[in-house]
Amino acid sequence: MCGIFSAWGIEDASNHVYLGLYALQHRGQESFGIVSTDGEQFYMKKKMCLVADAFHPTTLKMLRGRGAIGHVRYSTSGPSVMRNMQPIHAQLHDGEVALAHNGNLVNAPTLRRQLHQEGMIFQSSLDTELIFHLMARSQATSLKERFFESLTQVRGAYSLVMMTHNQLLLARDPYGYRPLILGEYRDGLVAGSETCAFDLIGAKFVRELEPGEVVCVDQQGKTTSDFLPRVARQAYCVFEHVYLARPDSHVFGENVYSARKAMGRRLAQEHPVTADVVVPVPDSGVPAALGYSEECKIPFDFGLIRNHYVHRTFIEPDQRIRNFGVRVKLNLQRTILKNKSVVVVDDSIVRGTTSRKIIGMLREAGARSVHMRVSSPAITHPCHFGIDTPTRQELIGANKSVEEIRGYLNVDSLGYLSQEGMLSVLAQTKDSYCVGCFSGRYPEAVDVELTNPS
Ligand code: SF4
Repeated sequence: MCGIFSAWGIEDASNHVYLGLYALQHRGQESFGIVSTDGEQFYMKKKMCLVADAFHPTTLKMLRGRGAIGHVRYSTSGPSVMRNMQPIHAQLHDGEVALAHNGNLVNAPTLRRQLHQEGMIFQSSLDTELIFHLMARSQATSLKERFFESLTQVRGAYSLVMMTHNQLLLARDPYGYRPLILGEYRDGLVAGSETCAFDLIGAKFVRELEPGEVVCVDQQGKTTSDFLPRVARQAYCVFEHVYLARPDSHVFGENVYSARKAMGRRLAQEHPVTADVVVPVPDSGVPAALGYSEECKIPFDFGLIRNHYVHRTFIEPDQRIRNFGVRVKLNLQRTILKNKSVVVVDDSIVRGTTSRKIIGMLREAGARSVHMRVSSPAITHPCHFGIDTPTRQELIGANKSVEEIRGYLNVDSLGYLSQEGMLSVLAQTKDSYCVGCFSGRYPEAVDVELTNPS
């Protein structure tokens, strides 16, 4: 998962991209980058750090111009190293281009091998770089057409913002896995991964790009849309609603907070329990726990308090950091938990190691009984479309039954929201979503190398 943002036709565009990325920090915490243009040349800055730590105000001043694109990275394709920071940029025969990508190209290994055999040299190990190479080889006459043609050759998940000195290009893959949203700001245009970034700068939501839509905006702000060949169906990543997107964002046609709360209500209908208190695993478990509490009429309370200065554990790339993170990230409210029968609600269970530690903490605080409720189905398969879920061997849901997981977690009862229940509360029709990590049924074929991740 990554976050992308762009501002076009806006005074001090880089400042607005900086703020937009600040709001999208939850989508990637490994590196941060902005490229801007004043119509004559590119100005760029990239750094392996959080947005807040990245730039001095004078650095932002150097990123001149009325056009800018930016990226926050969380690695899914290529390791977390400096050469893989985005936006990437290249000099094509007819000018410079800069590109930022959220997603994962599922035919990248095959394409990269083909291009290597043809003598291409790559600067990074990013799948994103393939798009530049495919554009460079294209015989189409305009840059916009070459961009479009390159997208007909890649498969998988991509929401893209690409910029030249005089045009901004936006694209969303035909399945629409990841969101890409358009907004207006003063006389210009913004586009980004989530609406929470628009709220921060005061931009107005216009619409989501359609799956398969490629938008081109010229220097005068004139916008045109083209569409990639249609696919059988849409495949919005349901995990954006479960965990990834910020609850105050609006993606895939609905508010994320409301969707999570509805999942919690449905979870309570499927797995009711008699208990004294409903406790969320903060922060992403909070809306579902509220929904569960309302539906079951059990009081909601914060029995776990989160330290907000620790990154999200799930998306840290290193196992040592993940292990270290749990106790640093969460602390107990013993007065709320002691001698209580507790329902603890989380949005998902990946490996189970974090949940097990949290349950241990609740018991240590004196909880009389602990019932775990999960507002999504068991994760049984890896994601190949832009989320760094682990291999099947590491996914507890792929290797243990619900009863075995209950025993491993040491809870009195365990209930997962059903796939049917999850989809039934969302705004789009059931077959509009990708549920590959819950079912193993992916919307499209994946290269063999990607199915055996190390
Ligand atoms: S496999 Fe799961 S995480 Fe990946 S795109 Fe599909 S629903 Fe989202």
